[in-house]
Amino acid sequence: MPECEYCGDEFEDEKDLHLHWGDEHEEELNSHDQEKVKKAERKVEEQKEKELQKKKRYAGYGLGVALVLILVGFVGAQVMQNTGTSGPKTSFDLEGQPMIGEADAPVTVVEFGDYSCPHCARFEFGAFQKLKKNFIEDGDVKFYFVNFAFLGPESTKASVASECVYRQDSSQFWKYHESIFENQKDGFDTDSLVQIARDNTEGLDYEELRTCIDNRESIGDVRSDRQLGQSKGVSSTPTVYVDGRKVNNWQYSNLAQQINKALEE
Ligand code: CA
Repeated sequence: MPECEYCGDEFEDEKDLHLHWGDEHEEELNSHDQEKVKKAERKVEEQKEKELQKKKRYAGYGLGVALVLILVGFVGAQVMQNTGTSGPKTSFDLEGQPMIGEADAPVTVVEFGDYSCPHCARFEFGAFQKLKKNFIEDGDVKFYFVNFAFLGPESTKASVASECVYRQDSSQFWKYHESIFENQKDGFDTDSLVQIARDNTEGLDYEELRTCIDNRESIGDVRSDRQLGQSKGVSSTPTVYVDGRKVNNWQYSNLAQQINKALEE
């Protein structure tokens, strides 16, 4: 161990000894020893600088990692929230509801929808068309539409009209249903709802349809549809169930995933 020749103290190494000289014996040092002190001080400075750079690097790295973890957590949470199903499995009494697909299809999909709801229109022309092509036409899924008319008098009127068409000729329902969504942006009144039927269905008695709409002959069905939804906790549209399980996201990819899962059960 180097020993201080001025006071006799011992030090770990030369550098510490020289630093001690600078602290305690500055006035006694010859120029040669002063050089040694400066060199030791420079070394300490360099080391400090290196440590600092290292810390900065790690801090940067740590921050990067933290950000990635936050992002992964966030996206993960989003994915968790936006896929799958939620709530307990429920069963519906779907007697008297329009259905498309094979009666013995193994999986049942139910949509609660409102004819004035833009998301329902998006569902109709997006996910539903793909479902039709990939699952309904193949006999894997039967699909029911239930009115959840909650956006005002025009919604209710369109629902009444759709139920009137269903009563007159259930085979014309789905074409009419789609056409109502196609004309959503223009709003609905009796004239427009009858006209949509004239333009898009075949063989109906259109005067009878007008009377049915004007007299709200099917309002009971529209009300009981909504009650069915409310009894299951439906509060927005579209709300979609796959085999009695409410999906967290009605995008096609999630629906297809849930249907495939149900097909395996
Ligand atoms: Ca209905």
